Amino acid sequence: MVNMVLFGAPGAGKGTLAGRINTIEPIAHISTGDLLRENVKNGTPIGKKAKSFMDAGKLVPDKIVIDMVNNRLKEDDVQQNGFMLDGFPRTLDQAKALDKITQLNVVVVLDIEKEALKQRILGRVSCPQCGKIYNIYNEKLMPQTEGLCDDCQVELTHRDDDNEETFEKRWNTYQEQSVDVIQYYDQNEGLVKHIESESVLGLSEDELRALITSA
Ligand code: AMP
Repeated sequence: MVNMVLFGAPGAGKGTLAGRINTIEPIAHISTGDLLRENVKNGTPIGKKAKSFMDAGKLVPDKIVIDMVNNRLKEDDVQQNGFMLDGFPRTLDQAKALDKITQLNVVVVLDIEKEALKQRILGRVSCPQCGKIYNIYNEKLMPQTEGLCDDCQVELTHRDDDNEETFEKRWNTYQEQSVDVIQYYDQNEGLVKHIESESVLGLSEDELRALITSA
């Protein structure tokens, strides 16, 4: 069973890596950003509490996110196929809370430079129907037809919080919090695997398998 955390700055390619792993194994991909956006869209109590933090590029309070993840991890698909957590944990308290809920077997850290990341984020668009992510500045990630999802033919959308101002805030928040979380996981020898963010699209099937079987 794969119990994986995908760790890296917002836009480092966690969702892309999860999508690639899902082409070979049906491991549940749990993005807390996606879960929160869904809650905001549906006007749930969680969404109402989270919205102002998200719009400001700040972290949603730990308790809200931890409860949400705890509930998601109890669902059948996770119990059957394991999980890849994307965007969680983001703070030391979240990492400690996660250890109480479940036992991780791999933490993948995606490394990337700030400027490369900025361009990637500002060019990022996704399909509102299937969630597939594209990038208008990257040849390998462009849709076949400009502005349309290759699979659903639905118009691609740009996230409200993918703008320059919010990027700077999210980058700073990541820098502040990530050191503690990575140090925490580094105490557990062999748990953390570093991958260059740029190499995610080029990983072969064997390399993807090696990643999940190391779990
Ligand atoms: P993401 O899609 O992962 O970039 O997340 C979008 C926004 O959702 C973030 O800027 C935060 O406001 C919020 N968020 C997502 N995951 C977390 C988390 N683990 N802890 C706190 N806030 C989160």
